[in-house]
Amino acid sequence: MTRQGSAIYNNICSEIYRSGHNEPHSKCGCPQGRVGSNPTISVYRKEGCRFCAGRAALFLYNTGTVFVQEKGQKMTQDEKFMKEAKKQAMKAYALKEVPIGCVIVYEGKIIARGYNRRNTDKNTVSHAEMNAIKKASKRLGDWRLEGCTLYVTLEPCQMCAGAIIQARIDRVVIGSMNPKAGCAGSVLNLLEMDGFNHKAEVTRGVLEEECSSMLTGFFKELRKEKAKKKQEEKEKAL
Ligand SMILES: [Zn+2]
Repeated sequence: MTRQGSAIYNNICSEIYRSGHNEPHSKCGCPQGRVGSNPTISVYRKEGCRFCAGRAALFLYNTGTVFVQEKGQKMTQDEKFMKEAKKQAMKAYALKEVPIGCVIVYEGKIIARGYNRRNTDKNTVSHAEMNAIKKASKRLGDWRLEGCTLYVTLEPCQMCAGAIIQARIDRVVIGSMNPKAGCAGSVLNLLEMDGFNHKAEVTRGVLEEECSSMLTGFFKELRKEKAKKKQEEKEKAL
């Protein structure tokens, strides 16, 4: 890694992960032994996952998922909260789940976070948005989430779009679209459908490139891993 590459890499690490604890860095496969003072994040540890922040950051750097902010360039409010949703998506990534993340904002503050945990929880409804909606309702003490804005890295599916309307969320901000399964304009548009008693205002394409390359990078790595496993099995059989 070049010096410049290494500097960017470290920046990315500190940008994505706030320092949490001081666990020794081990068995994570990270090429750089020390990444600030935050090698492993508590949530990963809780899940018994050895995926470390350094490796996550390297993945992001290699796949071009993280774009270093130009000096003086200001992020919009939507971009700021989408970045937070992306952090949630990385938690899913660390669990080898499809990286999708979500945050819900009320009165300018994040009141709930969620990420895809479908395989981990072995639960069909454990999508990022559903997990965040559940937490937001608990926080506000109401099933109605009026006045809330939901940020999600990938266009919601039919279940989540349905829940968004049911919860009467005012506004939805989407990172990348999902042509094969999205229900905020791709396959269907449940969020802006006439006839329901509630419609959400929708903003699409916030940090779109970053959000979609996070997904393509994930699937690319997954395919690579599968191919490697297959090859190893083949060699074993010989
Ligand atoms: Zn969903």
